[in-house]
Amino acid sequence: MRLTSATILASSVFLTAVSTSYAEDILVEGGYVMTMDPGVGDLEQTDVLIKGGRIVAIGRGLKAGTARRIQAKGAIVLPGFVDTHSHLYVTTMRGQFRNKEGQFFPVSSKLAGSMTPHDVETAMHLGALELISSGITTTADFFDNVIGPAHGEAGLRALQRSGIRGTLYYGGPDKTTKHPMNLDQLRSIASRLDKSAQVGVGLAWRLPRNRTDARNWAMRQQEFDTANELGLPIQVHVSGEPGPMLDALIEREYLYPNLTVVHAPDASAEQLRVLEAAGSSLAVTPISEQRVGYGLTRFDQFALFSKQGLGIDGNSLAGSAEMFATMRLASLTWSGGARSETAPDARSLLELATIGGAEVVGMASEIGTLSVGKRADLQIIRLDSLNLAGFGGGDPSALLVHSAHPSDVDTVIIGGRVVKIDGDLVDVDRPKLLQDAEGSARALTSRVAERD
Ligand SMILES: [Zn+2]
Repeated sequence: MRLTSATILASSVFLTAVSTSYAEDILVEGGYVMTMDPGVGDLEQTDVLIKGGRIVAIGRGLKAGTARRIQAKGAIVLPGFVDTHSHLYVTTMRGQFRNKEGQFFPVSSKLAGSMTPHDVETAMHLGALELISSGITTTADFFDNVIGPAHGEAGLRALQRSGIRGTLYYGGPDKTTKHPMNLDQLRSIASRLDKSAQVGVGLAWRLPRNRTDARNWAMRQQEFDTANELGLPIQVHVSGEPGPMLDALIEREYLYPNLTVVHAPDASAEQLRVLEAAGSSLAVTPISEQRVGYGLTRFDQFALFSKQGLGIDGNSLAGSAEMFATMRLASLTWSGGARSETAPDARSLLELATIGGAEVVGMASEIGTLSVGKRADLQIIRLDSLNLAGFGGGDPSALLVHSAHPSDVDTVIIGGRVVKIDGDLVDVDRPKLLQDAEGSARALTSRVAERD
């Protein structure tokens, strides 16, 4: 079905303004539903019924009883985006990366080492709320700044408080691989979290730069074995020198379906073939990868790869938590690199940001499409902003990829909880949030400046 100019231009969106963060029975009424399920496609003027945190029906004229009604006529209803890789603790370092004097790795490492648990919680909570506000309902947070146990708990609490779905990939105390990870705390967190919990835990894994450093490899082996024993997903950073690191992963037989390789824009065709055969996945973060000079993130080079998704890689490194901008850059780099105006199809970018990401984080049976039985994680995108005006009924995928902004995300629902509505986050004290973030950022930078 097509999104006609009549449904877009002749309709206005009226969304209710009841504020609550509890899972509710909800009827999302009359939207243009982009299911992202290839077998179903888009459904015009269609309702989505949510009960017990899951989608229980999709169709026209659904009976909802006492369910809360959210009017989506003239708007697009889309699965929540999946951010396959982030570092939310750097969110309050947004002002510090100025390329010449403020390069990301030295600056973020210096600041990160002085973060208190309060700084960590403030940054990660803010970062997760920014993701939600941008239509991202699931994140995979690579938390490689667990300086002490209180920092570990602070990071977990920040994600849980925000209302986002996701996995806290628990890492070491810094970006080097010199120090051991607190595997006792990893075990403790894993034992506390139910498999169906909205925030789960995984392993944030880094490899030794020195491939012959036996003591370092022994530490990494222990981390890998612990994650496997606990049945946890693993994300591995191969940034810096993806070629040799991918070779090490292959030679040491670390590839398996629960492993996601992050930042591998230069992976060779042969390395990709081996990764594919092992069932491993790729998390690709075009904005950050290009900002720090890893090279061009050419999705056309991964075209034959099955499990891949998009990531933000830290709101401050990417500039902001924008999946729209991420899709746009991926698309433009692809078109420019391939010298083709028609490649890629815009819908393939939306797939990477939804179902593709869900496959990467191992949740495709639960999220990533709007399907009966899946978790009710969705966003409603309003089409009444100037940047979306004049659409006139073309390709809604191209509209979203090339024209939409986070401010067009009117409503976000995660697991049946309305977490954003009428353009505002629910139950968030915005002035306090901003004040806390600014206070933490300034205190952190002055603490580090005094020490230097
Ligand atoms: Zn990263």
